Amino acid sequence: MKLGIIGAGTMGNGIAQVAAFSGHEVILHDIEQQSLQRGMGAIDRSLGKIVAKLGIEDPQGRKDEVLSRIRTTTEWDGLAAAEFVVEAVFESFEVKKEVLQKLDQICPQGIVLASNTSSISITRLAAVTKRPEQVIGMHFMNPVPLMKLVEIIRGLATSDETFHKTEALAQELEKVPVEVNDSPGFVSNRVLLPMINEAIFALMEGVATAENIDQVMKLGMNHPMGPLKLADLIGLDVCLDILNVLFEGFKDPRYRPCPLLQKMVDAGWLGRKSGKGFYEYSR
Ligand code: NAD
Repeated sequence: MKLGIIGAGTMGNGIAQVAAFSGHEVILHDIEQQSLQRGMGAIDRSLGKIVAKLGIEDPQGRKDEVLSRIRTTTEWDGLAAAEFVVEAVFESFEVKKEVLQKLDQICPQGIVLASNTSSISITRLAAVTKRPEQVIGMHFMNPVPLMKLVEIIRGLATSDETFHKTEALAQELEKVPVEVNDSPGFVSNRVLLPMINEAIFALMEGVATAENIDQVMKLGMNHPMGPLKLADLIGLDVCLDILNVLFEGFKDPRYRPCPLLQKMVDAGWLGRKSGKGFYEYSR
């Protein structure tokens, strides 16, 4: 299948990698050439590790073969040939609206437009297009090559056919699809983000250091990664956007983003992708 992926950031490049690894042709689109280069660099490094681990005979050959299935572009026209599209642009309704409307014009009727949104209503996103039956949530987890789960979210108008196509694609990518209803943050982020937010409040209030907060959750709750390290991995801007969607969606103060999170995003400390968040990273 020829898969269109919009946005070459953390998630878009991960989805492109697993799709190409599973044998699909990928058209990876981003508005910024630099993001495409960074995205392809990330795919190259991640694939390098994966093929080395698999112990196959010609790892470089396998890697080149997978990379050759990904075509990058900043133009929209190429997406007319896509048979299924997943958007993974910024977690902003306005940005996604613009992208979905563009895709709606370019892609033939019947092509599914899936959103990797972490929290925004699929029903609301679908309503900006002329094909709400073919719009669906396909929420991959980070890092995409390692995480098995894909939450699949139907909007009010999503057809059964769209659901089954999306479910089948997730399975082809060797993921486990789990159906959830359209509600702010779905299941994953409705449960995860309040925990991360609370960890940031605990840090801001001086309850413990970042390292100790993470250590408590790792050793005490058996989490593989502490919440602050995980927030750095997700991206602090993405965490803030999701909390704002939860806060606005439920109108409940328990989802208010911690002021320290807002401050760090204002400073451009976005976590792993910017080199600094609750921890420092060499890039
Ligand atoms: P990111 O900031 O790493 O990447 C977003 C990319 O989209 C950037 O490269 C940007 O240049 C590109 N972009 C922005 N506007 C665009 C446009 N109009 N057209 C084309 N490209 C455009 O973000 P991310 O972390 O990859 O998140 C992407 C989506 O995936 C968001 O909806 C987010 O909520 C969701 N998500 C993120 C995670 C995570 O852990 N980071 C996990 C699951 C889902």
